[in-house]
Amino acid sequence: MKRRTFLKAMGIGAVGAGLGLADYDALLGQGQGTPVSTAAVDNFPEAGQMVYREIPHTGQKVSVVSLGIGSLHEASDGEITQIVDTALASGMNLVDFIMPTMGPAEAIARGLKPHRKDTIAQFHIGAYANLAGVTDRTRDLAKTKSAFEEQLRIYGSGDSDIGMLHYIDQDDDYDNALNNGLLDYAVRLKEAGTIRYIGFSSHSVNICNRFLDTGLIDVFMFSLNPAYDFESTPDGLRVTEERAALYAKAQKLGAAITVMKCYNGGKLLSAGDSPFGKAMTTAQCVQYCLDWPAVVSCVAGVKSMDELQASFGYIHATEEERRYEHILGSAAAVTAGSCIYCNHCLPCPVSINIGDVFKYYDLAKNGDGLAKEHYASLSRHASDCIKCGDCEPRCPFHVKIVDEMGEVAEAMGR
Ligand code: SF4
Ligand code: SF4
Repeated sequence: MKRRTFLKAMGIGAVGAGLGLADYDALLGQGQGTPVSTAAVDNFPEAGQMVYREIPHTGQKVSVVSLGIGSLHEASDGEITQIVDTALASGMNLVDFIMPTMGPAEAIARGLKPHRKDTIAQFHIGAYANLAGVTDRTRDLAKTKSAFEEQLRIYGSGDSDIGMLHYIDQDDDYDNALNNGLLDYAVRLKEAGTIRYIGFSSHSVNICNRFLDTGLIDVFMFSLNPAYDFESTPDGLRVTEERAALYAKAQKLGAAITVMKCYNGGKLLSAGDSPFGKAMTTAQCVQYCLDWPAVVSCVAGVKSMDELQASFGYIHATEEERRYEHILGSAAAVTAGSCIYCNHCLPCPVSINIGDVFKYYDLAKNGDGLAKEHYASLSRHASDCIKCGDCEPRCPFHVKIVDEMGEVAEAMGR
């Protein structure tokens, strides 16, 4: 039952008409009753509004904004259930299940239950609740298995779950996890059909590359936002090459990225805290992440219905409202950077697909044998550029498109 319908059936108005969280707790019998599907309330997306992206080569669609539960322990049990239920009824279909304690687990499970079949659970492998009930990392295989099985017991299993090796940032930790059989365990879970996708979470480009080189990775969770991606150089800010290369490599290998820290812990939402000196909206943060290759979803950690509502900002925003170049342009030091193939620079009067031109050129430079063929199949090439310059002011990354078109035409022969 949709939440609005449910409330109507109960003779109660909308949330804004005065239903407090304590009332919601009571309606749910503090979790004793049947789970109630709340569906969309005002300002939450209606059916069909959510945008989905595909995990490459799988047909698996993932909502571009998804739910992180790491801060839900700050809410009451009733609100937790309401948040999870509303998020999933409003089109989110991926939940990342790492949180600091297992305290809210039963309330989360109640919100999840009506949607379980259609939900991609991002379960972490190599995290367990210690004796104090606090979530901790482990590389011990027995503890890993028992913690994973406990997650399945609490939340059930779905058709499209992800088994994600948890939080590996250091080389010795990576070696330890693999030597202790954690990746093999994930492979066996996939072979048995318990999970459908193998993943990992990390903040380290180096570790991401090591995992991707195994050829086993379907999905990974990575900290991605403009504050992390740009670096200072004597000439100003530039996109860090190794990070841009990682996103391109993931795309090339068919691994999808689910993003953590897309608001940089909220700092990007405040002019005072943002390193760029200007606030972004949640919609702009999400658009920034989605502009990179391989990114399928931004996991938004929420602890209240207001925060959940804010996380849907991208869905309600117009294309204009999603544009974020003001933050980069606001820093006088920002200079020409690398193309991320987002195509914000279009339209081009001679119909060059600028993002594709630069993408195939970069792939060819990096030794991709098929890139020249793909480039040749484009209907317009860099050599068709009439140097009008219309595109350059529209590029958030200040790519010197006219100059680069000349370079591409020369290198690619057309
Ligand atoms: S400068 Fe070249 S690529 Fe840019 S809009 Fe003009 S013709 Fe198209
Ligand atoms: S040139 Fe700029 S706007 Fe155009 S695809 Fe590349 S990064 Fe995006």
